[in-house]
Amino acid sequence: MEKNDSSFETKCVHAGVGEYEFGAVVPPIYQTSTFKFSTVQQGAKLFAGEEKGYIYTRMANPTVEALENCVAELEGGFKALGCASGMAAIHTVFATITSAGDHVLCSSAVYGPTTTLLNTILKKFGVEADYIDTSNLEEVRKGIRPNTKLVYIESPGNPTLYISDIEEISKIAHKNNAVTVVDNTFMSPALQRPLEFGADIVLHSLTKFLNGHADVVGGVIVVKDEETYKNFRKTLNQLGGVIDPFNSFLVHRGIKTLSIRMQRHCENSQVIAEFLEKHNLIKKVIYPGLKSHPQYNLGLKQHNGHGGMITFEMAGGFEAGQILMNSVKLCQLAVSLGGVETLIQHPASMTHFSMGKEARAAGGITEGLVRFSIGIENVNDIIKDLEQALQRVEKANLSET
Ligand SMILES: *Cc1c(COP(=O)(O)O)cnc(C)c1O
Repeated sequence: MEKNDSSFETKCVHAGVGEYEFGAVVPPIYQTSTFKFSTVQQGAKLFAGEEKGYIYTRMANPTVEALENCVAELEGGFKALGCASGMAAIHTVFATITSAGDHVLCSSAVYGPTTTLLNTILKKFGVEADYIDTSNLEEVRKGIRPNTKLVYIESPGNPTLYISDIEEISKIAHKNNAVTVVDNTFMSPALQRPLEFGADIVLHSLTKFLNGHADVVGGVIVVKDEETYKNFRKTLNQLGGVIDPFNSFLVHRGIKTLSIRMQRHCENSQVIAEFLEKHNLIKKVIYPGLKSHPQYNLGLKQHNGHGGMITFEMAGGFEAGQILMNSVKLCQLAVSLGGVETLIQHPASMTHFSMGKEARAAGGITEGLVRFSIGIENVNDIIKDLEQALQRVEKANLSET
């Protein structure tokens, strides 16, 4: 069986792995900044692109390339570009595609710093951005302008978990000569592969589910064709936000268990979402695997599982949420997501603070919203922890009355 024909689970283990010296089973860490040439003539050939090989690690490195090939294969893309962080990947995408006078149509529920990047640095260079609810296709159609170059979405969106129809949005974008970029960080290629639905570019914060172990910051861009790849590589080489060999090694190692980790993230999240939905202290739970989710059916079409992210609102508002977040013991109060450990955080004061209250409200990010990244612990232990924390919330309410 050809490696490319194998199932996703098998690809997670083998993708990007080649043949190495001494028969090493795992790609070696080429922790070197530069590569020596055998002669001046060979060096010249490498620079002219007439011979394949490595020159300098900002341009290319074998350990980084192994990871890039792995992610490209998992997403079903042509090639990938490893970046220093998810934000470096996002910046590289905007810097490659847009010029002064261009317009970006962006989902209002995206990673906070993405909107900050558009509203500050990109704006300074003459790129305009509008924010809309991309789960509503009518808003997408209306939001497109003659100068729209790029439609940017996250689905499920951060942190509201609204789902956007990647296939339909890509059609609308293409009709208007714009490209669709999907930040697939929340799902990973195990649960959603946007290129299969017509998206042009996929990017990730590798920091999250792909690495999965909360010990690396990294990013990646996946493209569909050689020309786009070359353009992106040029920008990344100029901007310089590349991932280093050691972090590439760690992420590649993490990806080997992506498939089984995602399966457990999904199983645990479904049980916890159902537990929270039934609880009298919880006003609202948003999880794509709940029938109460507004785009439940779209999720079934687009996902191979509903992910490890849950958001919810306490009946007692943010104050109750604060007590809950300060009372959990197993679940840890921290931003970031996608690791093996369960994390809990408050978007309005943490990840989405920089957006400002008005932009948050427009994106459905209420002040009382709490976001969970469900880990792979035993689900009963997580629920036990939540039960004791919810009891504290209940007691606090009683003492108030
Ligand atoms: C974390 C995150 C990013 C940014 O990634 P960094 O690696 O922190 O730079 C972008 N998008 C989403 C959805 C994220 O969760």
